[in-house]
Amino acid sequence: MNATLVTGGAGYIGSVTVEALVARGETVVVLDNLITGHREAVDRAIPFYEGATGDRELVRKIVAEHGVDSCVHFAALSSVAESVADPERYLSNNAVQGMALFEELVRGGVRHVVLSSTAAVYGEPESNPIAEDAPRKPVNPYGMTKVVLEQALEALDRSGQITFAALRYFNAAGATGTRGEDHRRESHLIPIVLAAAAGRRDGMTIYGTDYPTPDGTAVRDYIHVSDLADAHVKALDHLRKGGESLHINLGTGTGFSVRQVVDTVESVVGNSANAVLGERRPGDPPVLIADPGKGSEILGWTPTQSDLESIVRDAWSWHKARPLGYGS
Ligand code: UDP
Repeated sequence: MNATLVTGGAGYIGSVTVEALVARGETVVVLDNLITGHREAVDRAIPFYEGATGDRELVRKIVAEHGVDSCVHFAALSSVAESVADPERYLSNNAVQGMALFEELVRGGVRHVVLSSTAAVYGEPESNPIAEDAPRKPVNPYGMTKVVLEQALEALDRSGQITFAALRYFNAAGATGTRGEDHRRESHLIPIVLAAAAGRRDGMTIYGTDYPTPDGTAVRDYIHVSDLADAHVKALDHLRKGGESLHINLGTGTGFSVRQVVDTVESVVGNSANAVLGERRPGDPPVLIADPGKGSEILGWTPTQSDLESIVRDAWSWHKARPLGYGS
C-alpha cells in the first residue's frame, strides 16, 4: 500500500483532509513544524514528524521509510497581512522550503503532488466568477509564493517527473465535529464574528462599506472545510488513476457579503456581534467568486456542505466546544 505524505497535516484544512484520507483507508504520514498547527489535531495513531518541509534529510527519510508515492502539501504560512509585513519569511518558508520539498519528493520517487493553493494567485481579478485560466497576478507576497509553487510543479510535470493538482481555495470556513479553526492570531471573518457574538471579544469591524457591491461590503465565496478535504481526496484519486495535472478552483460559485455573514452569525448565535463600520483593509479586492465548473466536470467534486448557514452552524459548534481552540 502506498502512503501519502501530508505536510501541514496539523493545520486547519490539513487536519480535516488527513481525517478524510484515513476514513477511506489511505495510509497517511504527517509532517508539520507546529508553528501554526496543533499536535492535538492529528490522531495519535498516525505517524507524525515534527519538522520543516525544507529539512531535506527528514523528508528523504519519511519518503523512504513509509513508501510515500503521493504528497498533499499544505504546510505554509498563510496570512496575507503578515506576508506584506515580512515578505522574506514568506519567501523562505513557503517558496524556498517548498522547492526543497519538491526536489526531495521527486528524488524519492514520489509521483503525485496535490498543492494547497489559493484564490490569492488571481490578485484583483478583472471579472467574477473567476475561471482557472484567468491570469495569475498576485498582489501580495503570500499569493506570489503560491504562484511560484504552482510554476515549480508545472515544470516538474513538463519534465515527466510528477503529476499535480493545484487546488485554489476561496474562503475556507466551517468545522467538523472534532476539528476547526484555531489560529493564534485570528484574522478571518467568521471566527471573529463568532467570537464577538459569543461575547469573547468586544465587537468587530466591518472593513469597508463603500465597495461596488449590493450592500457596499466585500463579497467572498465561502467553502466548507469538509468540502475542501473531499476535493483533495478526489484530486489524489484523479492523479493516481493517471489523470493529467490540473489547476482547480475550490469555491461554490456563490458570494456572500461581509454584512450577510455578520447577519447569519448573529441569527445562528442569537446575539449581536456589535459590528462597527470601518475603513477598507488594504489589499482586499471587492469581490472574489469562483467558477467551480472545472472541479465538478473533471473531479466530480461538488460542495455539499457549503451553504452559509451550515458553515456558520458548524463553526459555531466548534467554537462552543473549543472556545480557546485546541488548548481548551
Ligand atoms: N473582514 C472584516 N472584518 C474582519 C475580518 C475580515 O470585515 O474582522 C472582511 C475582509 O475585509 C474580507 C472578508 O471579511 O472582505 C473575508 O476576510 P477573511 O480575512 O476571512 O478572508 P480573505 O478573503 O481575506 O482571505
